[in-house]
Amino acid sequence: VVRAEMFGQLTSGLEAAWTKLKGEEVLTKENIVEPMRDIRRALLEADVSLPVVRRFVQAVSDQAVGVGLIRGVKPDQQLVKIVNDELVKLMGGEVSELVFSKSGPTVILLAGLQGVGKTTLCAKLANYLKKQGKSSMLIAGDVYRPAAIDQLVILGEQVGVPVYTAGTEVKPSEIAKQGLEEAKKKKIDVVIMDTAGRLQIDKGMMDELKEVKKVLNPTEVLLVVDAMTGQEAAALVTTFNVEIGITGAILTKLDGDSRGGAALSVKEVSGKPIKLVGRGERMEDLEPFYPDRMAGRILGMGDVLSFVEKAQEVMRQEDAEELQKKIMSAKFDFNDFLKQTRAVAQMGSMTRVIGMIPGMGKVKPAQVREAEKNLKLMEAMIEAMTPEEREKPELLAESPDRRRRIAKDSGKTEQQVSQLVAQLFQMRVRMKNLMGIMEGGSIPTLSN
Ligand code: GDP
Repeated sequence: VVRAEMFGQLTSGLEAAWTKLKGEEVLTKENIVEPMRDIRRALLEADVSLPVVRRFVQAVSDQAVGVGLIRGVKPDQQLVKIVNDELVKLMGGEVSELVFSKSGPTVILLAGLQGVGKTTLCAKLANYLKKQGKSSMLIAGDVYRPAAIDQLVILGEQVGVPVYTAGTEVKPSEIAKQGLEEAKKKKIDVVIMDTAGRLQIDKGMMDELKEVKKVLNPTEVLLVVDAMTGQEAAALVTTFNVEIGITGAILTKLDGDSRGGAALSVKEVSGKPIKLVGRGERMEDLEPFYPDRMAGRILGMGDVLSFVEKAQEVMRQEDAEELQKKIMSAKFDFNDFLKQTRAVAQMGSMTRVIGMIPGMGKVKPAQVREAEKNLKLMEAMIEAMTPEEREKPELLAESPDRRRRIAKDSGKTEQQVSQLVAQLFQMRVRMKNLMGIMEGGSIPTLSN
């Protein structure tokens, strides 16, 4: 199955944005105008709702402008990363898991318009839960279409899950009640209630759902929506949530040529997460909705993303390796001291730029401010040292005269100079201790 083309049009639309930044040195207010226009157009063409597009573009531009340089990372790559992170946020950030009841059966009430793939989904969901070791039972509540009941029975057999039916003469809320009792008797883990799908929302449908909901007291109320309907799906989720109160949505037919509008709009428009997605007609084609993977697929830039994420790590590793050599030869001097402290300060300014990068986020702002303050203080004193003194800190440890001279030349106190010298020797000791850790394979980080 070729799935790479999901949201293909959106992917190529966004590509236009990165292309315009090729050859640029930094992201500026001016040079992101065109790329932002491309992003806006691509999202609108993907049928993302307009207010969502507006907020998205604003958020991305705000972050893109004033972004500092990360060594080795180009502006177009930086923009990819920013767009990725905003896409993930837009889709709800974390994966939103199904909730299971701790006492008695978990009840999942499914609602949705006709033809969205709801009946298929009931069986897919039962099959999905089976793989997690949970038993389930389907309740056929679509009393208006005898064919729907038959279809559910067939699908239930196919996945080896019991289906509770009571024909078309019984009220759905009554069927729900009976089915739930049956499930309790059989100690079934999860009850999945199928309900009638109409061609469009009407009062009868909503009233019936409310009644069924009252009887079942469901753990999850999920609206099944068709991804092909784009932002309309997001509007539906909102309506159902307002009318009956739902816990989330399930997106079907994401394998077709849906353009992405539904996946990108549902959470932002309705406030409700997409919990699962159907990506085919087979019973196996159901999976959790992972915002990060979805963003990755949309951008088709997995390699660039991990590169930007690694850039910081690598940088730290390079420094660490160099440092390691120094310590091996017991030659960690004031020049290295300065380099290290500058690296810390530099990382600090980058933290602000790309705080979302794993590892980076762990650097506390207070640490950074402290490092920057120390840097200024130390720079002045180290600059007042002779090259020989910088390379041989022992000279300073042994000579109060030298320390006095440095204090005078740098405008600091003798005590501050002594402190700096002491700090360097402490650092040598700490570095040696760190060596032990590094031999274990891990790299010292700022948060240590
Ligand atoms: P219902 O009216 O909502 O119960 O919809 P059905 O379950 O009967 O599905 C309607 C049609 O959509 C059927 O032909 C299904 O095979 C198809 N379908 C359901 N889910 C998916 C999906 O995720 N991908 C694709 N391509 N087709 C699906």
